[in-house]
Amino acid sequence: MKIVLLEPLGVSQQVLDACAQPLLDAGHTFTAYPKDTDPAVQIERAKDADIIMVANMPLSGEVIRACESLKFIDIAFTGVDHVDLAAAKEKGVAVSNAAGYSTQAVAELTLCMMLSLLRHVPQVEERCRAGMTKEGLVGCELAGKTVGIIGTGAIGLRTAQLCKAFGCKVIGYAPRPKEAAEGILTYVSLEELLTQSDIVSLHCPINDSSRHMISRERLALMKPSALLINVARGPVVDSQALADALNAGIIAGAGIDVFENESPLPVDHPLLHSKNTLVTPHVAFASQESMAARAKIVFENITRWLDGHQQNIVL
Ligand code: NAD
Repeated sequence: MKIVLLEPLGVSQQVLDACAQPLLDAGHTFTAYPKDTDPAVQIERAKDADIIMVANMPLSGEVIRACESLKFIDIAFTGVDHVDLAAAKEKGVAVSNAAGYSTQAVAELTLCMMLSLLRHVPQVEERCRAGMTKEGLVGCELAGKTVGIIGTGAIGLRTAQLCKAFGCKVIGYAPRPKEAAEGILTYVSLEELLTQSDIVSLHCPINDSSRHMISRERLALMKPSALLINVARGPVVDSQALADALNAGIIAGAGIDVFENESPLPVDHPLLHSKNTLVTPHVAFASQESMAARAKIVFENITRWLDGHQQNIVL
């Protein structure tokens, strides 16, 4: 099999070589390319590949259709919405992801955002550098707060556990409640979650039921003191409605790691200019530990698929 990696996996050459070695030993070829989002370049690199590996770079139907021998797309990411799954399905191409590699990393960034917003960390840091005091910026503790988790899969439940360890009351909303959530959170309706939570944290995938779930009307249900954290996917939130809600004091703050598009963001993006908004350029998944785990998982996905098993298959 010809295996082509179309963007770096964020690990050293040594780690990459060690991961690829078993496949080379089995007689397969492996070529790693730097990132290039131009479909023409991607087609040139992958046109006779049997297996394409990508991380979070969009992989269009145009590229998938042009790769005639393509049999398997191995996505080094949890979310798979950046790959044209309809085109893969049409061509009978199997697709896998790297589920679970970044659960801890995302949950920890979520807590980092909650704590930073509650204690006004960006503002007091700026004050300190400017030779000023904390005057007017005394924040709140996480302990005792009600945290509402929307989407109670791996990341949602890990975040809930960390919040519990901080002494929070944790409530959750999901279309299908999970047995694993017992003892960690209490399920409520979406409306109850929005009205009762001091912090609403989003951990659902982007799909037809979650697109713009956090709308202008739903933001109006939240407490004026509430914080919203989005480390899920940008389009789960109506960005303009959120920016308006922050500027009008409908809610108190937001921590946003994901937007409609990947960074760099347009300079006039509403959430770059709204009040008390902590923004990060899609970094929740990225820790040294998660990158190493991800590389291991995606190479194992190929070995398992070649052996006829269904590891992390999403299509
Ligand atoms: P998961 O599949 O384990 O959990 C997702 C949960 O969301 C499932 O339990 C599902 O039932 C639930 N869900 C689906 N639609 C919903 C809806 N409309 N409302 C509420 N819940 C809904 O996935 P995970 O590993 O926990 O990851 C969750 C999401 O986090 C991913 O889909 C991805 O979009 C995002 N993510 C972001 C980063 C980042 O770096 N910011 C990294 C990894 C994952």
